[in-house]
Amino acid sequence: MKTYLACMGTRPEIIKMSAIHRILKERGEKIYVFHTGQHEEVAYSLYDFFNMGPDFQLQLTREIPTLSGLTAELLEGVDKTIEKVKPDVILVQGDTSSALAAALGGYYHNVPVAHIEAGLRTGQRDPFPEEKNRELIGRLARWHFPPTQQAKDNLLREGLPEKSIHQVGNTVIDSALWVHKQTVDQSTPKLLPDDVRHFMEGNRASRLLLVTAHRRENWGAPIKLIATAVGTLLKLYKDLAVVWPLHPNPSVRKDIQEAFKSLDPACRDRLCLTEPLEYPALITLLSKCFFTLTDSGGIQEEASALSRPVLILREETERQELVKAGGALLVGTDIRSIVEHASVLLNHERTYKAMQIPVCPFGDGKSASRIADILTNQL
Ligand code: UDP
Repeated sequence: MKTYLACMGTRPEIIKMSAIHRILKERGEKIYVFHTGQHEEVAYSLYDFFNMGPDFQLQLTREIPTLSGLTAELLEGVDKTIEKVKPDVILVQGDTSSALAAALGGYYHNVPVAHIEAGLRTGQRDPFPEEKNRELIGRLARWHFPPTQQAKDNLLREGLPEKSIHQVGNTVIDSALWVHKQTVDQSTPKLLPDDVRHFMEGNRASRLLLVTAHRRENWGAPIKLIATAVGTLLKLYKDLAVVWPLHPNPSVRKDIQEAFKSLDPACRDRLCLTEPLEYPALITLLSKCFFTLTDSGGIQEEASALSRPVLILREETERQELVKAGGALLVGTDIRSIVEHASVLLNHERTYKAMQIPVCPFGDGKSASRIADILTNQL
């Protein structure tokens, strides 16, 4: 039996790591969870839901507003946890500052690092600092687990040894399918918060559009454009209902709420601006929506596992696979572009059906067991 230390701090990391945590536990391995505290509000209900601790947690002071200050605090926290746990391997996921700090901590302590969801690249400065974080983790890790061939090719191009790279799919698909299976038999109303439940009951006959936008690059003017485009769609399509779980950042919320101020009451009745959803509620709504408008990476992947078309609110994506497979379109944040592309989906059944791709390019729900096989064999 080996000792694993899984380090994470944000919502997507917890969701994507949960599948590996579950498999390793089932196999009787010792796995500790270290929560770095990067996300607080949404983290603990996820840990509860996935029954994964955390065993250790960092109380970030949050008084230091700089990225360097955050990284220094994270590194110090990781360092202490490694000393306590003395793991055989450190698991990190994706590209957050928590993942970078944990990989660096592992390197300093000579503990091998396994990088899950390795190899995603835009080749640009954005997303900042995530693009550099994932590149740096690539230099530090012993095992690289890219989800797709494209991600694997990115790592090979950067000169990483082929034997350290294992293309396994994305564990987000394991989590989405697992949650979908757990919740599909439960009655939907029980899973949804009251406001969303009432809204769904009042708009039973409508087609549902699920909107999320959280990326820093979309804060300010772009988010107002997105909201204006959603308002236009509500005016144009009387059978459309929109659920939009708002990002917790107060200025993002204010921008969105202001953009909808002049929306006429008949349209306002078909718009539900709500708090961030619990993961089972998010997956339930995603599985029921007509399509989704999002800048989230995780939601693009989950939507493809549930055969929901995606319009991506970004200029570029590190998840080109879904665009290439025909399940998503990059529409940016221009009002006309969003309205035109959404209208095609709403008006043209053939185009809509073609975007419901049958095979998910990100994985088959078995990524975590592949990772566990490789690690347990090689350790
Ligand atoms: N998510 C959630 N509730 C919400 C919005 C998102 O549970 O209200 C989940 C979503 O299903 C996905 C993850 O959070 O698994 C994505 O996180 P986010 O969009 O913050 O980050 P990204 O995937 O872009 O890194």
